[in-house]
Amino acid sequence: MGTTGDVTFSVGEQSEEIRKKFWISNYKKCPMCNSENIAVNWSVCAYRQNGDGSGTVVYQCLGNETRNDVEKVTWDKTTRKLSGEHGCGFYTSFLYDERESGDEHFQTKYWKK
Ligand SMILES: [Zn+2]
Repeated sequence: MGTTGDVTFSVGEQSEEIRKKFWISNYKKCPMCNSENIAVNWSVCAYRQNGDGSGTVVYQCLGNETRNDVEKVTWDKTTRKLSGEHGCGFYTSFLYDERESGDEHFQTKYWKK
């Protein structure tokens, strides 16, 4: 297994109830303010020899902002979210693993829609 030097992490909202609501919308709708403006950032932590990666994906609500508005904003490496305040403040993370069949967000594997 190779590594990019990053570590798996979890940030932001971690309540199963709220994350499940977000998951049901296919990660497209903020569960707090219903905005469909969601920023996504994939952090790859490791690659296996077959090329499968695993790591953490962070989703953050942008509210009424557009991707152009936040184009120059960078993902903060410490807080793992966009620097500054955005949207309603909702952000969350899911662990993913490309080895998993079907839903590669393995934390959601046993959730039922
Ligand atoms: Zn929101």
